[in-house]
Amino acid sequence: MTDQDDQKPARDIVSEFLEKSADAAEPAPDNPRCGFVALVGAPNAGKSTLLNALVGAKVSIVSPKVQTTRTKVLGIGMHGDAQLLFVDTPGIFRPKKRLERAMVAAAWGGADDADLVALLVDASRRDVDPDTLDIVARLKDAKRQAVLILNKIDLIPRENLLLLAERLNAEGAFTDIFMVSALTGDGVKDLLDAFAARVPEGPWLYPGDQLSDMPERLLAAEVTREKLFLQLHQELPYATTVETESWEEFQDGSVKISQTIYVQRDNQKAIVLGKGGSKVKAIGAASRKELEEMLDRRVHLMLFVKVRENWTDDPERYRQWGLDYNA
Ligand code: GDP
Ligand code: MG
Repeated sequence: MTDQDDQKPARDIVSEFLEKSADAAEPAPDNPRCGFVALVGAPNAGKSTLLNALVGAKVSIVSPKVQTTRTKVLGIGMHGDAQLLFVDTPGIFRPKKRLERAMVAAAWGGADDADLVALLVDASRRDVDPDTLDIVARLKDAKRQAVLILNKIDLIPRENLLLLAERLNAEGAFTDIFMVSALTGDGVKDLLDAFAARVPEGPWLYPGDQLSDMPERLLAAEVTREKLFLQLHQELPYATTVETESWEEFQDGSVKISQTIYVQRDNQKAIVLGKGGSKVKAIGAASRKELEEMLDRRVHLMLFVKVRENWTDDPERYRQWGLDYNA
């Protein structure tokens, strides 16, 4: 991917995707609405969890670790006559390494193209974190009004919530404030109502039954990477990536998926493999189970672990992830 591709408006990418997908669209309502909603927020604010709640299905991976999301994931929420195209962004944080800069550029790219920007804040934290303040400053610089969403209200008393709302409202960057729990679903319907009312009138860009434009292969790799995160906890090296190498569909309806887990060093490979391969086996079993549910068919999953030094400096990897190497 080049800078050019990166700057392509989301709508062009969508229409290209639509040309490729042969499925006929469901009949749309008489007065449809459709628009892009970018979810921005500090790492761990709950963006992926909220996206899944908004869409009503698991489309973006959720993990207690920060920076799990590396690519833009488009979740599609159908609400009344509106089709809401959600862009889940990598957490916006202060970039130091090249990979981080690319992730941040992708995050802001998603926000710039969107019809609505929603800033998600973890309300359970004692103070407003510096990442959130950076984002607010950036919104103000860009004269971009956003919807403020205070998340994780299941964890804090109401008084604290109101103080936080006041504190952030004083920034003058927000049109409204919503209070939700992405985890329990509290307040999510109100949020959907508001988004649906505010996206522009216009035809749906996707068939009504589609949940995400993330290619299945990439989605399958994300599922395995999520299991890696969950099973290895702190041990997992940050620069680990999973790629789907092959995807073979059989007459009986099953699919054989081969994936490679790339690590940077031999000792990391040993960690991922575990004693006698027990770790990678457990990761594979968990991933296969979820893939079977997701794809609704039998899955044979083959996992390989390989050492690839310096993949974070390889432009090709960035292209595959839809990130800009030169950000
Ligand atoms: P992201 O980095 O912004 O995408 O955040 P995630 O969606 O991955 O969530 C980070 C962590 O916060 C996960 O452990 C979630 O389960 C948790 N989380 C997200 N939303 C809520 C919420 O409303 N309440 C609680 N208690 N936890 C939440
Ligand atoms: Mg995320």
